Amino acid sequence: MVIHPPNQIQNFMSDSSVETFQVDHARIEGAVREILSAVGEDPNREGLRETPARVARMYAEMFSGLRKDPKIHLQKVFSEKYDEVVLIKDIAFSSMCEHHLLPFTGQAHVGYLPNGKVVGLSKLARVVEEVARRPQVQERMTEEIADLVEGELSARGVAVVLEASHSCMTIRGVRKPGSMCLTSAMRGVFRENLSSRAEILGLIVGNTK
Ligand SMILES: [Zn+2]
Repeated sequence: MVIHPPNQIQNFMSDSSVETFQVDHARIEGAVREILSAVGEDPNREGLRETPARVARMYAEMFSGLRKDPKIHLQKVFSEKYDEVVLIKDIAFSSMCEHHLLPFTGQAHVGYLPNGKVVGLSKLARVVEEVARRPQVQERMTEEIADLVEGELSARGVAVVLEASHSCMTIRGVRKPGSMCLTSAMRGVFRENLSSRAEILGLIVGNTK
């Protein structure tokens, strides 16, 4: 049983993937000016003059995962006879709720039971990062990560748990600051075997608080 704290995950943002699609910054800028005018603001006043360009750069960053294929991080694998759980806890992520275009932020816990193949530890954090950097819903994000790990590593079991705070719930609508949304996706043995599932959930939830 190996549990890797996040401080062992290093520099997972360091290399950049080749991007072919170019975000249309001018188009975002025009749209942001429109929104500002529509709410009764003056997009030309000093404090707002640079805002459309800033927002365009921010969206290009927040949605950079749309131009990346997270699979590639799981393709370099190592043969290992290690066959116990590998779990990376507390992978911080920021994503953007696709219903409101407001951020949701939290932590991902990704565990798998290898089937003769293991992947570099930082790669799981990269997968989380790229899946997060898209217009998302937490439920789908959780399943996407689980399916990627199961599919690419042929793992005997995969467990993904995400806990996040959604600003569309905390700052607007029902306004419930402090509320957390928890989602899980289980694959293979963690889905089929209750005691395996209880064990991995114990490892994930047991020490996070
Ligand atoms: Zn929302």
